[in-house]
Amino acid sequence: MDTQVFDIHIIGGGIIGLCAAVALQSCGVKVAILEADKIARGASYGNAGHLATEQVFPIADAGILRHVPAMLLNPEGPLRIDWRYLPRLAPWAFQLMLNMRPEPFARSHQALLALNAKSLQAWQDFAKEWQLIPWIKIQGSLLTAEKPSSLKILTTHGQRLNCLGVPNTLLSQSALSDLAPTLQDNQLGALFFPETGHITNIEAITHKLSTIFRSLGGQIYENCRVLSAAVTIEGICLTTSDQQINASKVMLAAGAHSKALAKQLTGVSVPMDTERGYHLMLPHENERLNLPVSSMDRRFIMTPMERGLRLAGTVEYAGLEAPANMNRAHMLLKQAQAMLKTPLNSEDSTPWMGFRPSTADSLPIIDRQKSVFLNFGHQHLGLTQAVISAQIIAALYFGDIPTVEPTAYRLDRFR
Ligand SMILES: Cc1cc2nc3c(=O)[nH]c(=O)nc-3n(C[C@H](O)[C@H](O)[C@H](O)COP(=O)(O)OP(=O)(O)OC[C@H]3O[C@@H](n4cnc5c(N)ncnc54)[C@H](O)[C@@H]3O)c2cc1C
Repeated sequence: MDTQVFDIHIIGGGIIGLCAAVALQSCGVKVAILEADKIARGASYGNAGHLATEQVFPIADAGILRHVPAMLLNPEGPLRIDWRYLPRLAPWAFQLMLNMRPEPFARSHQALLALNAKSLQAWQDFAKEWQLIPWIKIQGSLLTAEKPSSLKILTTHGQRLNCLGVPNTLLSQSALSDLAPTLQDNQLGALFFPETGHITNIEAITHKLSTIFRSLGGQIYENCRVLSAAVTIEGICLTTSDQQINASKVMLAAGAHSKALAKQLTGVSVPMDTERGYHLMLPHENERLNLPVSSMDRRFIMTPMERGLRLAGTVEYAGLEAPANMNRAHMLLKQAQAMLKTPLNSEDSTPWMGFRPSTADSLPIIDRQKSVFLNFGHQHLGLTQAVISAQIIAALYFGDIPTVEPTAYRLDRFR
């Protein structure tokens, strides 16, 4: 690799790295992506495909604390902690708890709201520019409730979101059944979010973006893991699995694997851990739903995709090294079945696990520290926020004013 020819090396070719790479390369910046594996095979491969602009509250929500014991006691519940991982999780979990206090919670909420408010339009413009339209559906999504008590919470939640400028409508059981007739009548009502979307084939989108990036002159180096990074007076020295690179600028976008490299590049230890999530893909179920349906009570989502129905969700704290526990993917079938009128066809289903990059304050780090750009930590919302994050990075690169005020996403908040 002739490393001198690039203006910037991006570490990590997930949806975050890829969107930023296309945004920069199309403005004349010479970009190389260094990807440890294959392009977009990490969290970006298996997520639920939901452009979830309605999710404007931090994961660190005090309201959820009282449900945690019940969730942990239920082996088929949406939350699992590998107790052997607890000592390593503890510092992050402590920070997460501190962020539940009213002031930091409100700060994170405002910052999520600002980012999500621009995310859908950013995706739509980007999709138009790079011919991704066939795989992006803006048909809204549903959040259903199954218990009368949940319906009450859902109603209040919807009113609160409407006041915040996140439009939604409360659907009665019969209106819900008109919109999603395959749902069982145990679904008592739902919020319909018209300004949300979903991606029907994430693989097709990332493949198309890689092709576009290359056609614009960008280079992708797969199986090229960055082992360490050091900022020197001559530039940034990256040691990869096959060589040393002297880079003039670097953008870190290694998702949940960014923590150690961020420390080497900036000296800052970011409170980030991984929330492992699972999906089960049902390839013979393409016709079941025509928009994503999340369940408030069961805490998972069903997204219709070109290659079937994707059941996705759950949070597992077990770190980056422990093997996947695919039972957590398979148990999603039971959850989905309970919401549907007729049996699901689970033949040829495939389970998957991926690493959400989750900071303790639920906000990504989108920043520039001289020659080092940072773009990681998008937790449950990396797909949704990929294009708006790329736009902010491009503005920081060229010294322009970003479309979203970037202060809340700066690294400095962890110094
Ligand atoms: C089950 C599940 C469902 C989800 N659903 C949604 C959803 O519906 N909507 C939404 O918006 N978000 C969703 N998310 C979150 C979203 O998938 C992530 O936030 C997003 O994919 C993060 O993208 P990324 O590019 O930062 O990370 P990744 O996709 O993980 O990419 C990071 C890349 O960096 C590479 N890398 C790592 N270390 C190195 C290194 N040292 N050198 C070189 N390369 C390296 C990795 O191989 C990887 O390809 C979901 C996540 C999960 C797990």
